[in-house]
Amino acid sequence: MQANGVDSLAFLEPIIRLTVWLALLAAVFVPLERIFAVHPRKVFRKGIAVDLAYYFISSLLPALLLGAPLALLAWIARQYVPAVVLNTTASLPFWGRSLLGLVASEIGYYWAHRLSHQIPFLWRFHAIHHSAEELDFLVNTRAHPLDMVWGRLCAMTPLYILGLGSPTGAAGSAVPVAVTLITTMWGFFVHANVRWRFGPLEWLIATPGFHHWHHTKTGPLNRNYASTLPWLDWLFGSFHLPRGEWPSDYGVRSRIPDDLMGQFFYPFEGPPPTAVRGPKHIEPSSRSTEAGNDETAVEIGDPSSTA
Ligand SMILES: [Zn+2]
Ligand SMILES: [Zn+2]
Repeated sequence: MQANGVDSLAFLEPIIRLTVWLALLAAVFVPLERIFAVHPRKVFRKGIAVDLAYYFISSLLPALLLGAPLALLAWIARQYVPAVVLNTTASLPFWGRSLLGLVASEIGYYWAHRLSHQIPFLWRFHAIHHSAEELDFLVNTRAHPLDMVWGRLCAMTPLYILGLGSPTGAAGSAVPVAVTLITTMWGFFVHANVRWRFGPLEWLIATPGFHHWHHTKTGPLNRNYASTLPWLDWLFGSFHLPRGEWPSDYGVRSRIPDDLMGQFFYPFEGPPPTAVRGPKHIEPSSRSTEAGNDETAVEIGDPSSTA
């Protein structure tokens, strides 16, 4: 009897831990979003209940779904990656491996994210994240579980290729855990309704301004894919960050259900997309005249635009 009682408490432990984290995040961000608001918002805005549910789902489910594929990925990497690569990265100090891991993981995530905007099938899942019409720190967790798995898998793959992690064993998972922790915490910050800008450093580290432009509904679409390192967008020709300006509205043109179950099944409904549109809107030549160039652009991969 006592053992069963302990087991049920063990089941509750991650829920309690996440609730404490949520309280800490709210204690930091709710006051900041009131004092430094970009747009005046209510704390209990539209969709807050759904996003609270996403907070727990997005924290628990991807970890369960990712265990087996990451173990397979690590095993494959160990078989095929040259020993010289593994030995070189193994000789670096922890901070060096973490920094290299962050850059490598960001490159993996950048391309996963960009493909999520360009391939209609992937966009169906990723559109859930973009359905938020009001941004605050909690929108960070609004994501379809399969979208999260896709992004996380692509972000982790370069780490294993470079020998920077293994999903088994505490030592092997130190760099992946550090990178995931940094990018997740930064994810809350860049979604926050906080008008802080980093001046000349904005190209180096992502700010709310940088990521808010990624969520624009009517501004230049499909920009700013990186989660923490904006210079990757500069490098790959998708950077958009006009000084001192903020998007006036957020969201997607598709009609996406407001409720949790509706959003979960949304990617599986309707006829399958048949066309894939190219990234004509982010040609390097358009970089210097970004603002206003895409007013009439079709949202790439948007199911409503491919119908
Ligand atoms: Zn996106
Ligand atoms: Zn976002």
